[in-house]
Amino acid sequence: MTPSYLSHLECSLCRKRFDAQQLQNVCIECGKPLLPRYDLDRLARRWNPDSLWDREPTMWRYRELLPVQDEKNIISLGETNTPLIHTKRLGEHLGLENLYVKDESRLPTGTFKSRGLVMAVSRALELGVKRVAIPSAGNAAEALSVYAARAGLEAFVFMPQDAPLANQLICNATGAKVFLVNGLISDAGKIVRQGTEACGWFDLSTFREPYRVEGKKTMGLELAEQLGWTLPDVIIYPTGGGTGLVGMWKAFEELEHLGWIGKKRPRMISVQSSGCAPIVKAFREGAETAEFWENAETIAGGLRVPGPLADRLILSTIRESNGKAVAVPDSLIQAAMIQMSRSEGLMPSPEGAATLVAAQKLVQAGEVAAHERVVLFNCGTMLKHLDLLQSKDFPILDPKSPVNYKSLIQDP
Ligand SMILES: *Cc1c(COP(=O)(O)O)cnc(C)c1O
Ligand SMILES: [Zn+2]
Repeated sequence: MTPSYLSHLECSLCRKRFDAQQLQNVCIECGKPLLPRYDLDRLARRWNPDSLWDREPTMWRYRELLPVQDEKNIISLGETNTPLIHTKRLGEHLGLENLYVKDESRLPTGTFKSRGLVMAVSRALELGVKRVAIPSAGNAAEALSVYAARAGLEAFVFMPQDAPLANQLICNATGAKVFLVNGLISDAGKIVRQGTEACGWFDLSTFREPYRVEGKKTMGLELAEQLGWTLPDVIIYPTGGGTGLVGMWKAFEELEHLGWIGKKRPRMISVQSSGCAPIVKAFREGAETAEFWENAETIAGGLRVPGPLADRLILSTIRESNGKAVAVPDSLIQAAMIQMSRSEGLMPSPEGAATLVAAQKLVQAGEVAAHERVVLFNCGTMLKHLDLLQSKDFPILDPKSPVNYKSLIQDP
């Protein structure tokens, strides 16, 4: 018997219902993302937080609220619950008493893309897919390659030619067919859609299949459980395609329906880079949808998404939560990577570091109070971005120059 209470899929815009036991991409009526729905009334009668006590500390502990039907299709590599770290020193520096970092860099592929892709690949496997494709800034391609290898599926990944070398090489090492695109994730996406018919692959682009968001939803479930079934006051999230923001919001809605949390919600703060900020621009202009951002450029590759398909969902989430969208410049992002490392020993990706810059901005503008519980998402590991650490501002002892050591010892 399946533990999943998945009942159907629903269009996020026109509400049309779709069969969840069939492969689906987007809504055939309006082209917008489909969201999985669960039989929450029935689940509420049988499930409570105590049901979790003896379950493994991975995202699969919430399996009733996840879409995989048969456990044998779960191709897990151990998607561990990630720590919620109280960063006191960083907090003091900013003037926040309760600043936390949820450190997603601990996941199997070093980024939170593991959550979404393990779910999407497990469901694709369950529904009979043999061949999958994805456009990506790099981390999603890597996560797909890893989980496709695990599942025994053939993977085709398309990423910008300047995607991090770590992503490119790991995709190759795990056996995916890797294609570098002269352009951005949006150009890679066009190639994947063009190839779908001819090459017979299933398109796993962000929000063009319904299950990556369910994987990302587990960040919200986990956060609530870690805080004793309460929620923080503010969540600061680096937004590209918006799966995490939308997924966590969905998690909170479902938890409230189950009666595990109350009505209170965090203010959801979406962070983008000044070099690619379609959501920030739309938010400021009061628009319901985001315009395509021309000539997108930023060192935070995960945020280089010029035209997110889920723009409406992202914007409505931010507004319903009484949140905000904030753009931060690359120069401050790079400095924040070092700041988080030096003051807390964390190893953030540039996208994760961007959340610190946003937090600082909000505090300075008086939009977050000192006592409020603020959670930053560090979405990935610094290890994929060693190039960003090689700067003249951060010299290291040079092994070719022994004078270096001598002066250290003689003149400490
Ligand atoms: C994909 C990605 C993002 C954006 O995540 P979404 O949930 O799609 O908005 C941010 N940071 C990193 C490191 C990523 O890989
Ligand atoms: Zn629709």
